Amino acid sequence: MLWCMPLRLFNTISRTIEQFSALDPSNVTFYTCGPTVYDDAHIGNFRSFLAADVLRRFVESPLCEITSAGGGHRGPRRVTHVMNITDVGHMTDDAEGGEQGEDRMAVAGRRIAEAKKSGKLPADTNINPGDPYQIARFYEQRFREDARKLGLKLAIEADTDATIMPRATENVAGMIAIVQRLIDKGHAYVVGAAGSRVVYFRVTSFPAYGALSGNTLDALRAGEGGRVSEANQAQKEHPADFLLWKEDASHIMKWDSPWGSGYPGWHIECTVMAVGRLATRQGQSPISPLGLTDFAPGGAIIDLHSGGEDNIFPHHECEIAQSCCAFSGAKGSFARHWFHPRFLLVEGTKMSKSKGNFFTARDLFAKGVEPAALRLELVRTHYRSNANFTMQGLTDCARMVERWRRVAEGSGADNPAAKLSRDTMLVEFAAAMHEDLNVAQAIAAINTWVSSCSAPSKEDAAAFKLVDGVLGVLELVPKAVTSEIAAYAPGVMPDPKVEALLVARKEARAKKDFAASDRIRDELAGMGYAIKDMPQGRVEVRRV
Ligand SMILES: [Zn+2]
Repeated sequence: MLWCMPLRLFNTISRTIEQFSALDPSNVTFYTCGPTVYDDAHIGNFRSFLAADVLRRFVESPLCEITSAGGGHRGPRRVTHVMNITDVGHMTDDAEGGEQGEDRMAVAGRRIAEAKKSGKLPADTNINPGDPYQIARFYEQRFREDARKLGLKLAIEADTDATIMPRATENVAGMIAIVQRLIDKGHAYVVGAAGSRVVYFRVTSFPAYGALSGNTLDALRAGEGGRVSEANQAQKEHPADFLLWKEDASHIMKWDSPWGSGYPGWHIECTVMAVGRLATRQGQSPISPLGLTDFAPGGAIIDLHSGGEDNIFPHHECEIAQSCCAFSGAKGSFARHWFHPRFLLVEGTKMSKSKGNFFTARDLFAKGVEPAALRLELVRTHYRSNANFTMQGLTDCARMVERWRRVAEGSGADNPAAKLSRDTMLVEFAAAMHEDLNVAQAIAAINTWVSSCSAPSKEDAAAFKLVDGVLGVLELVPKAVTSEIAAYAPGVMPDPKVEALLVARKEARAKKDFAASDRIRDELAGMGYAIKDMPQGRVEVRRV
C-alpha cells in the first residue's frame, strides 16, 4: 500500500506545517506537561492529553512514516512518552510569575475540609486537608484512574514504569542543580536578603525568548504595568524575568536549597523531568540532570513537546529558555516540535463552573457515559480547532462505537470488492493522519467504509484493529459481564448491592409478592439502573 508522505505536523514555534523529524526515528522522545493534582481533571484537560495520545499512537503505528536523515522511516518505532505530575502546589496567580496568590494545595485543602464538613466527600475518603502530600496523592490517583479509563497509553504504562509519570516533588534535587547551573552560567541571579531570597531567570540572556509565543522582550517590558505588581517587579532586572526559586520558610511545601528553605518555580520542573527521562545522545541513554552534561549548541534535546494552548506563554517559553541556557549553549528550541491542541468548548461556549457546563471525566462516568464514547467525542475534532463537546455529540459517538464494533467483530468470508474498499479506507485514513493529524477526515474515511461493510470479514476486523490502534476507542469497549442472576450491559460493572436486590426480587416474585418486586425495581432505578427480565431467568441490567 502506498500513501504519499511522511508525517507533517504544525509546529507552534515556526507557525507552519513541517515534516516531523526525530533524532532517532526508532525511538521518538515526547514530553507532555501533565496535571496539577489539586482537583479532578476536566474534559478540556483530557481533550489535550488525548490529542497527544493520538499523536503518540499514530507515530507508533505501522501506518505512519516519518522523515529521517536517511529518507523515510517506516518503523518499527516506539515513542517514549513522559508526563509529569505537578504535585508542588504553586500559586493561584500565574500572572504574578508564581509569587502571588495562594498555594493551590492550600486551596484544595480548604475545599476538602468544607466537603468533609458538609458530608459531600465519599465515606471511604480519609485524607487530612492540612497535608498537601495527601491531597496531591489523592488527586493523582483519581487522575490516573480517569486517564486509564480513557485509554491514555502512558497512564497504563506508568503502572509498571513509574519513570513515565514522574512527580515534581521527587525531582527537587534536579531542579536545584539546574538552577545552580543557570546561576553559574550567568542566566539566573539571586536577589533579596537571607530569609527572603529569590532566584530569577535572566530573560535578556536568551536572545530567542519569545520565539514560541510571538512575544518580544520590548513588548513584555512595555506591558509590565497591567500585569505585574510593583512590589514584585522592583527586584527584577527585566519584568519578564521569571521565578526559579523562592525562599519562604513558612510555605506549605518547602525544601532546603543553597538559597534557603523554600519552593521551586513552576517552569523549572518540566526541564528536569524532560531532560532527566528523555534526553539521549547516540549510544547514551537518559542522562541525569545532576550529571550536568552539555548538548550541541542549538541542538534540540527532545523530539516532541505538548501542552494545552494556555501553556504556550509563559510556561513553555520559560521552559525553552531555561533548558537551552542550561544545556545547549543558550540557543535552540529545546524540542524539535511543539504541539498545542486548542481549547474545548462545551455546547458552544467556554466551559465554566458558573454556567453549569463544567464537567470532569468522572462526572460523566458517574452518569453512565462509556469511556469509549467520551474518548471518541474528545478526539474526533482536528486538534487545532476548538472542539465542541455536546451531549448530542456524546450520544452520536456512542452509536458510532456500536457500528464500529460490528465491523471489529467481523468473521465472515472476504471477497475482492470488500478488499478494495478496505484498502481505500486504509489509504484515506493514513493520508489524513499524515497531513497534520486530520482525525476528523480519518474518521470520515472509516465511517464511509463501515456503512458499506455489510458482512464484515476477519480481514475487515484486522484492518479495523489497525486504525483503532491509533484512535484507541474500541479497545476501551468493555465486554458484557454475566453473573448467576444478572446480565450486565457492556460498560456496567457488577455490583454486590445490585446482586443482592436482584436475588431478593427473585424470591419476592417466586412468592408472587409483586408489590415487593416493584419496590425493588424502584430502588434500583433510584441507584441509576434499569432492569429487564430475560427468558433464561436472568435480569438484564443497564444504566438509566
Ligand atoms: Zn510543563
